[in-house]
This record gives sequence, C-alpha cells and structure tokens, in this order.
Amino acid sequence: MSTTMPAIFVSHGAPSLIIDECPTRDFLKLLGQQLGRPRAIVSVSAHWTTAEPRVSISPRPETMYDFGGFAEELYSLAYQAPGDPVLGQKVLSLLKEQGIPGGKDSSRGLDHGTWVPLMLMYPETDIPVIQLSVQPHLDPGHHLAIGRALAPLREQGVLIMGSGAVTHNLADFFGRDLGAPPLPYASAFAEWVAESVTANRVEALTDYRRLGPAAPRNHPTPEHFLPLFVAMGAGRAGGRVLHDGFTYGAISMAAFAWD
Ligand code: ZN
Repeated sequence: MSTTMPAIFVSHGAPSLIIDECPTRDFLKLLGQQLGRPRAIVSVSAHWTTAEPRVSISPRPETMYDFGGFAEELYSLAYQAPGDPVLGQKVLSLLKEQGIPGGKDSSRGLDHGTWVPLMLMYPETDIPVIQLSVQPHLDPGHHLAIGRALAPLREQGVLIMGSGAVTHNLADFFGRDLGAPPLPYASAFAEWVAESVTANRVEALTDYRRLGPAAPRNHPTPEHFLPLFVAMGAGRAGGRVLHDGFTYGAISMAAFAWD
C-alpha cells in the first residue's frame, strides 16, 4: 500500500543553494521528512525546455552541471538516484490519454532544477526520479492539463514536484547578496501568487502575465513559473504555503503543496 502524495512546487534558487546557509536550505532539508517517502518522484524542471513534453527514461540518470560560474565544490556533487523507465512510460500513457503528445529521452540526466532540491530533501538517493520537461512557448493551461493528466500517480505514492521559482529576474539577481531584502516588485508578485494559490484562483493564475503585479519583470521568460501549473493541476483544489522567503532580493523561494 502506498500513501497518496501531495503535489508540490519548490523554488530551487541558485545551484549554490546546496551550500548557501539560508532558511530555504533548512526548509528543504526538513521537507523530505515532512512529506514522507514517495515511491518515486516526477520532477518537472524549469531547466528542461522542449517543443513538446519529454520524459527522461534513463535507468541511471547522470547528474548534470548545467550552470557556470559557481563554487567549484558544486561540480563534484552527484545525485545518484535511479531512474524509473516504467514510470516514464506510464507518464507518457497518461498524457496520451488526455490528448497531449509527448516523447521519451533515454539520455537525459538530472539537471540542477531537480537535484539541488532533492539532494536536500532526500539525500539518501534511493528513490527513483524521472524528469518531465516544460514548454515555454505554450501557455499555463497546457501545463495545468499535464498536471491533471498525471494526478492519478499521486495515489500510487508518486511525488509530483514542480521545480522553478516564484519570481525569476536574473538581471536583478546578479550582483545582489544572498540575504538582500526583497525588491518591492518581486515581493508584490510573490504575495499575489501565494494568495491566489491558497484561494484556489486557478483562472487568475493562468492569466498571470496580465493580472500578476509586474509579471513580465518577474518572469522575463516563463519557464521558471510553468512548473507551478503542473503541480497545481496534479493537486486538489486550494494549495497551501509550505515556505516563503527570498534569496538575492529577486528570487522568491516560495514553496506550495496541493493535497
Ligand atoms: Zn533555475
């Protein structure tokens, strides 16, 4: 018997979150224990963008160092969790049943959108992990539909994790300190998202580029926000705030769960 897992969205911040002492790192270290142990994890990462959904099916996904200019020790870390090709195939079947085309990728590893939070949440690396890509040229409704298609997996003990950022303006991130106070336009957007998630304002969220405060400045490109819609679609109505906070003044580290 497996227990039903919530769907979650986490903000992964900079790759250095693994070594940066900050409240979000402490939060993620406790989150794995709070959630309990899933049978497997489907990670929807902002760092894998494709024309149509792609699912990683490598049985031994490699750790990807898909970033540059960070501390040397980050490049020696490895998250050696097994893959789950059978689950990958199941994800594709569920998408197909809902009319969403997709494909598999047998060589894709785990990018830092996946392994940075998971190394903190589940350091034992014994839970199978697969990745699912996002489509930045498609709208939030497409990503919501992906989440809805995958919702049945939760009852089989699968944790659906969207990994991105609630605010993500890299031009404002560079040059700021880890503990810098949040920029007002970024905290306004993060507050709007948290209120909308908890009040289950799905339509407002899917129209975030028009309705969210300074949305285009908070997300010059949408890929870091789209994983939130997959998690929201996979969950039941009304999310809850797991964590709130900022790093580098521009990157909201908020996290949510949908039970
Ligand atoms: Zn990122």
